[in-house]
Amino acid sequence: MTALLQVEDLHVWFDLQDGGELHAVQGVSVGVERGERLGLVGESGCGKTTTVLALMGLLPPSASASGRVLLEGTDVLAGGEASMRPHRWSDVAIVFQGAMNALNPVRTIGSQIVEAIELHGEAGGKAARAQTGELLESVGIPAARASRFPHELSGGMRQRAAIAMALSCHPKVLIADEPTTALDVMVQAQILELLDSLCRDFGLALILVTHDLPVVAQLCDHGAVMYAGEIVERGLVDTLYHAPRHPYTRLLFAATPDLGHETEEIVSIPGAPPRLDQPLVGCPFRPRCDSAFEPCATSRPLLRRVADRHAAACHLNDRPSQAPG
Ligand code: SF4
Repeated sequence: MTALLQVEDLHVWFDLQDGGELHAVQGVSVGVERGERLGLVGESGCGKTTTVLALMGLLPPSASASGRVLLEGTDVLAGGEASMRPHRWSDVAIVFQGAMNALNPVRTIGSQIVEAIELHGEAGGKAARAQTGELLESVGIPAARASRFPHELSGGMRQRAAIAMALSCHPKVLIADEPTTALDVMVQAQILELLDSLCRDFGLALILVTHDLPVVAQLCDHGAVMYAGEIVERGLVDTLYHAPRHPYTRLLFAATPDLGHETEEIVSIPGAPPRLDQPLVGCPFRPRCDSAFEPCATSRPLLRRVADRHAAACHLNDRPSQAPG
């Protein structure tokens, strides 16, 4: 069966002012099927947001990308903007990080959603306004508030409006980039519940980009852990939590207080990720890894299957008796 969305061997480079290049995404392959929920996790700067911007065709001019982005079997990356445009918002939509960045502050939320509906030929005039009201109601905003400006809404309501806008063209895949950042705990829970119910009601596939593992555990069935521009482990969320096969995944969970570690010592991950404007030799995680051994200094581990629906990029998995976890 053809996958709904499949990203294969995606690379992204940014041109630097000094003439160099920053290799921000290094061979990422991920995918989602209808109704599936994938959490893309990792520390800031690991390439999560760049990956989703690349698959939406929304990279800035200073960036270039290679690889394949297959939407129901059609490569929408190869043909550039002309091949991506018909699918953006209609098939794959994104809720950008920070609702204030996604909404125009000098226009009412209703007019922005109406415009999105009309631009994509979904409906026009009265029908577009009626659809806008329904969309707002579906995300928990009374239709009468369509005439409000973003600054007249609370942070949670603005995030709901941004989600309504992303859903305006009935996408099959919704990407949510750090959807709960800067919201208080109660509102975070409400937004997660909303995403959960929208995915169920509309049969959406979800790609959730976050550094927040409890959010992934709550909402996603699969997870892909990114480090230094590449996926270092992927599998079912339960498997990643209970049986990680990469030391970075193990440390990420250990550094998260809300996932059943109440009785264990919470650890922070020492050191910092490597610079991506220089070639990486050996395992990118080696300077921070407490399990590193000889091959890690010279040989870059490849992401490979370690169990059913579970892959990791760590040399320890070549020595099964010493596999991390
Ligand atoms: Fe650690 Fe080596 Fe595995 Fe990298 S390959 S995560 S350095 S054990």
